[in-house]
Amino acid sequence: MAMKSREIRLKNRPVGLPKPGDFEVGTVDLPDPGPGQALVRNLWMSVDPYMRGRMIDRPSYVPPFQIGEALTGGAVGQVVKSNDPSLAEGDLVESFFGWREGFIAPAAMLTKLPKLNAPPQAFLGVLGMPGMTAYGGLLRIGEPKAGDTVFVSGAAGAVGSLVVQIAKIKGCNVIATAGSDEKVAWVKSLGADHVVNYKTCGNLLAALAQGAPKGVNVYFDNVGGDHLEAALELMALKGRIVLCGGISVYNAETPAPGPRNYLNIVGKNLRMEGFVVSTFENMREPFLKDMSDWIGAGKIKWEETVKDGVENAPQAFVDLFTGANTGKMLVKLA
Ligand code: NDP
Repeated sequence: MAMKSREIRLKNRPVGLPKPGDFEVGTVDLPDPGPGQALVRNLWMSVDPYMRGRMIDRPSYVPPFQIGEALTGGAVGQVVKSNDPSLAEGDLVESFFGWREGFIAPAAMLTKLPKLNAPPQAFLGVLGMPGMTAYGGLLRIGEPKAGDTVFVSGAAGAVGSLVVQIAKIKGCNVIATAGSDEKVAWVKSLGADHVVNYKTCGNLLAALAQGAPKGVNVYFDNVGGDHLEAALELMALKGRIVLCGGISVYNAETPAPGPRNYLNIVGKNLRMEGFVVSTFENMREPFLKDMSDWIGAGKIKWEETVKDGVENAPQAFVDLFTGANTGKMLVKLA
């Protein structure tokens, strides 16, 4: 009998903050895999802020999601049936076929999980895309040196919490922002030297400045908006701004204004550079080696916020924008 898979489809394009009602659950039958294919049951799926951009109908580095179609995203699953010699029943694989309970795909589109001492869902977080984002963004673009001050916004999230810890491993002074006192305490426990609750601090620039008496050498931006403006004021000469994301403007209904103080880039000889994580694909080997060594040595820790069941994935996505997650937002599927 064919396996059934529930999947999350885009019902309409969200306006402003997304709502669970912008999505709907559908069911498909999964027949036996054809030649070169495998049938996979997903165990975990990743929930990511960048997906908000794909819900807007505009050209981008990835095509927009289509109304009525299932969403896609990172997932880890187990092979149920394989019709390709490279995969066997029971193999754990990473894919981009998340937001569904199961799927059939060419074996060539599935990556067997490396045998590292970590649970499968870590390949959606610390050892997966968010980990690579933190590692490549900070090390290749931020180029931190021992003694530098690194400012990380969104520091209690999947990416930010790893940037904080990698910057500490590299011998930096780390200042950071997060959206609750509990998150501030957690980011401090990861080693950050000065952490600001941006929701209650009053003057963000003044609160951050206390932790950066010599200015900021590297700003890792997950948030944009007022955080980017504060960073531009605090940057030291020849500082590097790593533009990873701008979650504070993802739900803006009209284009968000650029930083009013961007001319600091000129006067302070700054470099500001954005990236898409796929650009770091050639760093995969050193990334996995360093991360697993650091995890083994107790230098990298992580948290997960887990929802159960594919039907709760839309709420998990909405929750990213209200800060309901600490660390990686995941949905457990089986
Ligand atoms: P997170 O785990 O950080 O989750 C999102 C967090 O953002 C929330 O928990 C919330 O934390 C914070 N947030 C939400 N709204 C706001 C706001 N208005 N102002 C400030 N903070 C807000 O997500 P990720 O770690 O997965 O992603 C972090 C950033 O990195 C995102 O901007 C994402 O798009 C980007 N990214 C970019 C990639 C690339 O290739 N360039 C790849 C992966 C991610 P709090 O409670 O602290 O407010």
